[in-house]
Amino acid sequence: MTSRVLLLHSGGTIGMRPTADGYRPLEGFGAMLQQTLNNGSAKVPIFEVVELAELIDSSNLQPFHWTAIANELLARWDDFDGFVVLHGTDTMAYTASALSFMLRGTDKPVILTGSQIPLVEQRSDTIENLQAAMLLAANPAICEVCVCFGRRLLRGNRCSKLRTRSFDAFDSPNYPWLADIGIDITLHEERLLTSSASAFHVPQFDPQAVVVIQFYPGIQARMVEAMLASESVRGVVLRSYGVGNAPDADEQLMAVLASAVERGIVMVSTSQCITGGVTQGAYASGAMLNRIGVVPASDMTLEAAFTKLHVLLASGTDTDTLRQQFASPLSGECQ
Ligand code: ASP
Repeated sequence: MTSRVLLLHSGGTIGMRPTADGYRPLEGFGAMLQQTLNNGSAKVPIFEVVELAELIDSSNLQPFHWTAIANELLARWDDFDGFVVLHGTDTMAYTASALSFMLRGTDKPVILTGSQIPLVEQRSDTIENLQAAMLLAANPAICEVCVCFGRRLLRGNRCSKLRTRSFDAFDSPNYPWLADIGIDITLHEERLLTSSASAFHVPQFDPQAVVVIQFYPGIQARMVEAMLASESVRGVVLRSYGVGNAPDADEQLMAVLASAVERGIVMVSTSQCITGGVTQGAYASGAMLNRIGVVPASDMTLEAAFTKLHVLLASGTDTDTLRQQFASPLSGECQ
């Protein structure tokens, strides 16, 4: 049977045009793409293109866009064998992670891609990325949300944008590539998630529910206190040092964090290092976070930890269950 793939365009460099002000989304890109793919010699599965009502530079991404993208996919879920989401690179890893939690257990591939150079410019990487993404989206062995970019297929909730000026902008330092895209496309099936029948849940997000606090030399307790003062804040992603260490000598700062946890805010810790994750308590400076009740985020990326907290909070999960669910893998995002 011939596979059918939906292309959902949300914006990003791939569909931008140059202006006096720099690149901006190009209205009507969907139709242009349809024509380019139909006219070209590129062998791609049967496809349809739909666009979000408002195309964005993904620097303007808000949590409500995750709901909009998921709803567009689910509205057409039964009509297609696989899905490609065209997205800006700046926040692609956030959207891929959010989708991986909303669509956990998916029985179809959802592949995000984009480009570093727009389709309308010379030397664009659009067709190469898109063609690979479409072929992979037609492969029923893939039952997860992925990012296909720069000749590699990555687990969506394991990847980050690590390079601003290279075609291979993305990598997943704590999980091996799902496919190598060279002369042949080599899919590493043993690394893939298996589909598990679970009902998708697409929540409405409160954009203020989760904040990120990065430790840095000189961080002030009163600044952190001000950030956590809003009643809307229900989750915090700490960016700790190394294997999960904190400036524990600052008693005021530690008291501010402890008081937030006591008020019911779910606080988790990711490492500022790209590779390896946290082992909270390997040092006394990290053991303090254990005493406060900070949940270690293992080897999750910032994007995975941030969106996982958002999804769990928006799903109405109670605090104790949420802390347990956060600590264990929901969609292949951590060890
Ligand atoms: N600023 C662009 C975006 O994220 C960058 C890109 O797509 O590569 O939408």
